[in-house]
Formats: sequence, C-alpha cells, structure tokens
Amino acid sequence: MSTPASQLALRSSLIDVFSRPLGSLRLSVTDRCNMRCGYCMPEESYVWLPRDSLLTFEELNRLAGIFIALGARKIRLTGGEPLLRHDLASLVGMLSRQSGLGDLALTTNGILLAEHAASLRTAGLRRVTVSLDTLRPERMLAFARSARHSDVLRGIREALGAGFSGVKLNSVVIRGFNDDETLDLLEFARASGVEVRFIEYMDVGGATRWRQEDVVTRAQLLETIARRYGRVDPLPDPANPAAPAERFRLADGTGFGIIASVTAPFCAECDRSRVTADGTWYTCLYAERGVDLREPLRGGANDAEISALIARVWRARDDRGAERRLAEPERGVLYQIDGLRADPRREMHTRGG
Ligand code: SF4
Repeated sequence: MSTPASQLALRSSLIDVFSRPLGSLRLSVTDRCNMRCGYCMPEESYVWLPRDSLLTFEELNRLAGIFIALGARKIRLTGGEPLLRHDLASLVGMLSRQSGLGDLALTTNGILLAEHAASLRTAGLRRVTVSLDTLRPERMLAFARSARHSDVLRGIREALGAGFSGVKLNSVVIRGFNDDETLDLLEFARASGVEVRFIEYMDVGGATRWRQEDVVTRAQLLETIARRYGRVDPLPDPANPAAPAERFRLADGTGFGIIASVTAPFCAECDRSRVTADGTWYTCLYAERGVDLREPLRGGANDAEISALIARVWRARDDRGAERRLAEPERGVLYQIDGLRADPRREMHTRGG
C-alpha cells in the first residue's frame, strides 16, 4: 500500500469548492446490523436495501480503485455492521492489494470481531475501531437490544491479540444513558491499552429520538475529565488535519479523543465521502441526495467514465452539513420516520457512520 510522493502530489489536485481534497472513503458493505442502538436504530422495523442491489466484492474493489486513483488515501469499511457481510476478509485482501492505499480500517460493533480479528489482520486490515458505549451489560441490553456485551469485550481483546496497531473505542455519550460512565470508559481504555473517542450524540438520519438537551458536549466532557484528572492538554495532529477526533492527553500521558460533530463541527477540513452498500455515493453525512455509481458500474461504463463522474461531483462539492445544522435556530430531528422509510439511504446505518 505504499505510494510514491509524485502520485500523491498528482492526486491532491482534485479538490472541492472549499479546497478540500478527496482523501477518505467510507465503504459500507451492508445496511444490516445485529444491534439496535438508540442513537441509530431506535425503531421497531426498517426498510432494507434489496439484496440484489448490494455491490459485490469485485464491484466494491473496482470502485475503491477508482477512488484511490483520484486521491483517496484511506478506506474505512462500515455498515450497518460490516462483519455481517459474509467473508469480509476476502474484500479486505482485495483492497489491501490496491497500490496507493495508505490506510485500511474497519468500524464494528465488536459482536463478531473475536472470530474474525485474526483473519482480517492476516488479510491486510490495519486498524479497528470498536463501538463501546457502556461497560454495563444490562445497559447495552436496554439501549441497544443486545445481550452480547461479553462478546464485544472479547472482540476487543482478540483484536489486540491479532496485532492491530490502532485499536480504538468509539463511545457515543448521551445524557441519561451513559454520561455517568465517561471516566469508567476512559479507565477501561487505559487498562486495555486502547484509545477511547467520546462522540457527541449526533442528529443524523436515523436518530429519530434525538434531542439537543441529550447531547453531552465536548466542553462538558472535558470538564468531567479535568475534574477527576486535573490538567488536560490538547494533542494536535498536524499530519492528519481532516481527522474528526480532537485528541487530548492527561498528565500521565493517557490519550483520548472527542468527536464534537454537534457543537464544534469540522466540515472545513472534511475530506470524507461515503458509498452505501448499493453503490450510492454521498459527499456528506447529511447530504440530501447521493450519486448512483451502481448504474454505471453495472451498465458497462469504463473506469475513466466513472472517474470523470466522481471528479465532476467532487469539484462541485460544497457540503458543510454539520455546520449548517449548527446554524439552525430550532434544531430537531433531521428526518421523521416516514422520511426515512421513503428513502432508507437517509439512515446512518445505511450510509455508514
Ligand atoms: S457534516 Fe458533512 S462536510 Fe461536515 S464533517 Fe460531516 S461529512 Fe464532512
């Protein structure tokens, strides 16, 4: 996955209207999930993408190659829950052989991670991020309708044992659900040798129960942590300006991150876009419409034609979804359930988080 500097220089020429490069791609491999987290899938039933619309591994790999040639340096596999896609390691193997890709990562809820960690690592996956919102199994059962908390913890251990260098935990913090666990999660991460990133509860598609007052803000998180540990220093990451997490360090060197999408959006540096499992490309998590890439993929378009389509859309990209939401005086849910059922690609579990 090494990339000659000359190629990188060439790629960085594809920028959007705010001079943001096309740098990072989130590939969703399924819209299905084996959890029902309250911030993402709180409803009883969902409209799923038709199975025959899902891109094959060969189609995903071809698309990835086109994005890489246009400048994408990082690919993150998402869902739904990506490990529900049969034989995901095969796709990882294909992607890891793409020349020019600098980073290949996976976001998972961890339930199936223990059984797949070693094969994913062997196939070439570099980094794993595991969602872990609570250390209390009974809370996970109530909030995410899953009794498999111990499997998630086992998955984290197996990922560390498999040799992934950058195992991270993602914890969405919601008032009245888990805001009393911030310090416990930080201690758990420290003891486990992983880094936790606290995420503000976001008003994305699918979050039909979102309320501003349930958001625990970056400022409140930092205050809680500083009250317990004293000084908290920012840890700038100049090599990675588009990273969504702001990193911090405690006096003993323990690092953690905060993703403050709600109160301190980072659209200005955003180089991310998302492809749903059925091949619809979104240039923003909040974008109303996507670009159908499945049709040209299956309709006989060659790579140059698809590349030209992607480049044209990226050059016109002016998305600043989270900043625009922040500016709304009366901020409520993004879509009501009927709007989500009318177009399931509005759901975060379809679009990839
Ligand atoms: S809201 Fe859109 S533009 Fe802003 S950081 Fe998220 S994906 Fe990027």
